[in-house]
Amino acid sequence: MRNKIKVVGVDADDTLWVNQPYFDDAEKIYASIMAPYISEENLLRELLNTQSRNIPVYGYGVKSFVLSMLETACVQSDNKINADSVQKIIEIGKDIFSKQVELLDNVDEVLKKLKESYKLILLTKGDLLDQKRKLRQSKLKDYFHRVEVMSNKAEDDYAAVFKRNAIKTNEFMMIGNSMKSDIIPVLNLGAYAMHVPYHATWAHEVAEENIDHPRLTRAKNIKSIMDIL
Ligand SMILES: [Mg+2]
Repeated sequence: MRNKIKVVGVDADDTLWVNQPYFDDAEKIYASIMAPYISEENLLRELLNTQSRNIPVYGYGVKSFVLSMLETACVQSDNKINADSVQKIIEIGKDIFSKQVELLDNVDEVLKKLKESYKLILLTKGDLLDQKRKLRQSKLKDYFHRVEVMSNKAEDDYAAVFKRNAIKTNEFMMIGNSMKSDIIPVLNLGAYAMHVPYHATWAHEVAEENIDHPRLTRAKNIKSIMDIL
């Protein structure tokens, strides 16, 4: 496998830097704003339903998250939510945009090492502007031959990336934390994948985690990638 791989795709959120914990914290604040109307458990279930419904229209990222929080707030409060609370919900999103990027441990040295042997491509989904901001702050940009902010990470989205970059599937490996977005579609296309788990996963991204596949490798953490690749 090591000899075959020429191009390595790397996910960003919760693979290179912290992301999901900001959303988990944001949901706690949202639940406290909505507490007069609905329990946290029911609210977050309704929010997830709204988000899942809206993703085909809004895509991923903070702006999509805020619009879905506002929509859920209107519905679950029977339109009684006041402008003050609406303002607070908007602020939740702005706070996420203002977070300084926190790199996960050992990311810098691992990318530096990988770049010596492979062509690296950053493959992330979310708000275009926000992902570019995070990449700039991360100072990781120079490790990557290309950066693609994808609107989704399904099989046809990866197939389009392969075509655009003239990548042969059997020479490609994707590294990421999400089985649903980083691993399964890539395996289905005939490429290799390496799962690097992260402690927090968005409910929308949860997939069958325990699959076995001849082209799937599991790394304990980002540093242990170096023992495998
Ligand atoms: Mg991720």
